[in-house]
Amino acid sequence: MSPDAPRSGPHGVEAGGAPTGDAAVDTLVSREVRRRRDTVQLLASETEPTPGVRAAMASVFDAKYAEGYPGARYHGGCEVTDELEELAVGRARALFGAEYVNVQPLSGSAANLAVYAAFAQPGDPVLALRLEHGGHQTHGSRANFSGRWFSPLHYEVRRDDELVDYDQVRDLALVHRPRILVAGAASYSRTFDFATLRRIADEAECILWVDAAHLAGHIAAGLLPSPVPHADIVTLSTNKVIRGPRGGVILARAEHGEALRKAVFPFVQGGPAMHSVAAKAVAFAESGTDEFAGHVRRAVDNARGLATELAARGARVVSGGTDIHLVVVDVSGFGISGMDAQHRLGAAGIVVDKAVLPFDTRPVSEGSAIRIGTPVATERGMTAAMHPVVADAMAAAMSTRDRETHERIRREIAALAYG
Ligand SMILES: *Cc1c(COP(=O)(O)O)cnc(C)c1O
Repeated sequence: MSPDAPRSGPHGVEAGGAPTGDAAVDTLVSREVRRRRDTVQLLASETEPTPGVRAAMASVFDAKYAEGYPGARYHGGCEVTDELEELAVGRARALFGAEYVNVQPLSGSAANLAVYAAFAQPGDPVLALRLEHGGHQTHGSRANFSGRWFSPLHYEVRRDDELVDYDQVRDLALVHRPRILVAGAASYSRTFDFATLRRIADEAECILWVDAAHLAGHIAAGLLPSPVPHADIVTLSTNKVIRGPRGGVILARAEHGEALRKAVFPFVQGGPAMHSVAAKAVAFAESGTDEFAGHVRRAVDNARGLATELAARGARVVSGGTDIHLVVVDVSGFGISGMDAQHRLGAAGIVVDKAVLPFDTRPVSEGSAIRIGTPVATERGMTAAMHPVVADAMAAAMSTRDRETHERIRREIAALAYG
């Protein structure tokens, strides 16, 4: 296959978009198309938006200013936009079974900021999974508003099985009486026990918020139990497993709707990105199909298959496996840090994120793990037959710092048929 021949996946995922007419930008777009095409994409937080989602993102709605909500806007000419937002809200409500839906958050982090704004005052205690144990920076990291403006408390995973320690969650909740109990994670391969968390939140009389950024696609596809019946609030990203635009969504019980509405606009944001709302509407409809459920199921199978093959080659899979599309892999068996692993794999054309282990002995800047995820590789046709091939390439790349070996693996990876 010639290096420039497009190798389309089921959704034409090689599309870089229509030419912009700006030579400098167009050059970067084609280079990025080539980079993605010629490397194995294993970033757990990336997806491939579908052609319908891309078309909506490029639609006329990008031009529309629509501060406010349907029927109560601060701008003229919003009659069509109102219908669009109601369409998106109605589809999300049907997909997730939620009473209140807000589709305006510009990102997952913006949705999370709105949750704090709606339910906590500066200084209030908030209890969440520790960042180094898989949590997210918006769950109380000192570098983020959540850790600077609120008083973070953190629960952890257990040392022995690396699963969330619900006894510790309960103890911390009852002693410290947080305003909000947060579940959800960026680098934890398991789902959460929502019923147990609900009982703890009731005992401690706090809000239960599930940040389902990585779980939303699995929940939409009906492959994992939904947090919606248990949680006060659920936030999600439409660009992780759901094949939608970059953006956030808030789901909530009806009683919380008014507070969230005001928190998103005007507290956190101005005008919504209506092209993104259009793309969210497309993504919600597509996420209710059997085709999407099949995609998510394949992504999980690929994550499990790759994890098994890596474990057979000297890696250790954190918590022993995965329920979702991502796996955290301890690479200390290769005598390298997570950062070294990211660099060596990157040189060999395999794109992953470094990660830290729970109770890691290395500094956070290095870590002893990588986080791999399969939504993009799955979209591009990864099958079980490829798991040993990719795992061999990963093990070989992590075992050396030799540039020529990395180059050779990179060429082999680029030639790997993706369907
Ligand atoms: C990805 C993610 C978010 C949102 O991130 P954005 O980049 O702001 O969209 C929030 N919470 C968790 C747990 C995440 O993994």
